[in-house]
Amino acid sequence: MPLPVRSLTVLQNWDCQGCTSCCRQYHVAVSAEERKKIEAQGWENEPDLQGVPYFVRTGGWFSSEYRLNHRPDGACVFLGPDNRCRIHVKHGSAAKPLPCRIYPYSLVPAGDHWKLGLRFACPSAVEDRGRPLTEHLSEARQYAAVLEALSGTAAITIPPPPLQGSQQITWSDLARIVSAISEVFAEDIDTIERRWRKVLFVVSTLRQAKFDGDGDPQKAIVGSRLTELLTILVDAAEDEVPESPDDVPPPSWVGRMVFRPVAALYARKDTGPDRGSAQSSAFSRFASAIQFARGRGRIPRTHVAIPQTTFDVAEQPLDELSEEAESLLTRWARVKIESGQFCGPTNFNMAVWDGLESLAVAFAAAMWLTRVLATDGRSVDDAVKTAVRIVDDNYGFNPLLGRGRQKFALNLLGKRGELSKLVAWYGK
Ligand code: SF4
Repeated sequence: MPLPVRSLTVLQNWDCQGCTSCCRQYHVAVSAEERKKIEAQGWENEPDLQGVPYFVRTGGWFSSEYRLNHRPDGACVFLGPDNRCRIHVKHGSAAKPLPCRIYPYSLVPAGDHWKLGLRFACPSAVEDRGRPLTEHLSEARQYAAVLEALSGTAAITIPPPPLQGSQQITWSDLARIVSAISEVFAEDIDTIERRWRKVLFVVSTLRQAKFDGDGDPQKAIVGSRLTELLTILVDAAEDEVPESPDDVPPPSWVGRMVFRPVAALYARKDTGPDRGSAQSSAFSRFASAIQFARGRGRIPRTHVAIPQTTFDVAEQPLDELSEEAESLLTRWARVKIESGQFCGPTNFNMAVWDGLESLAVAFAAAMWLTRVLATDGRSVDDAVKTAVRIVDDNYGFNPLLGRGRQKFALNLLGKRGELSKLVAWYGK
């Protein structure tokens, strides 16, 4: 019997709008079993698929890994002229490769259940269009069952991520932390930028705490004692965190230099029609990396949406964000946090505090990218939506963000007190 899938307290809507963006942007890996299944579906009689290979080998001649093939216009070979998936239309959802079925859901292990999250790379998630996520639970349960069958493990057998280093925590205490942090975002008397600084204050204070009470169970910060501590810290954040981002010192030279290459990883697209020209060859990627480290001159086009603009222009503050933009940035943060996607196996096995700080950096990167995108004359609201889609597409999925070098950069920004400065600088 598969474990239950639970939804989130934040109201997030979604339904597929059939925009076909995902059928064009992603290279979908297919297992040997899925290949056999698709080959047996009788596509040789389909005129539009005559002589078209269904799969492409990835990783060189001797590799046994394949992905779905795409046409020269970027569309998956199985995308029909009516913009519908041929496999889905002819054989139903279960006949498609697993990644196509699950997208844009994210199923996150949470002890005795799975949490249902959502990828904001999908425009429908950004637009909040469709039915509430709670109405998708029965569908998500089927996918959780498939994941459990494939991996041979249920969510319950996966241990919770540590708080940091070897500092372990139980699933129920992790749920207490997640709930307290999400509550900070639910409080909309502050701007999203200040709410992020409050969360960073709570995280940096909790990094100093010894949760095990130095081996004395009477002093251990667990259960209701943890809830109490979280309440005290959230209240203290109200007094300790400056009201205005203008009262926060700007990020240092080192902070910006470390941040820019991370922002570049969040602002890139390597496959599909949105691939940036700066990603077209190993040389251009190298040149772009150097340009981001220098932070001078033109911003390399790591994504097709990046207009011709300079690093200097991206340092200019935006007008005040609209209610709609604030609400999107809040939903994005709360869905990532409440679903648990920010840490553990869904975010390169990051510990809890690291995962929350990585999401703060993703927020700063999205705001940096918003400024860049807004230079092409689009509205700030539209720029925020596009930036969230681009950044979320990479968050937890771009393997470069899981490398030791990036984790070191994140740690450095945290230790030097640069995270709140970056959030204040780019979020205002
Ligand atoms: S990107 Fe989202 S809305 Fe568009 S086809 Fe894919 S799942 Fe549907």
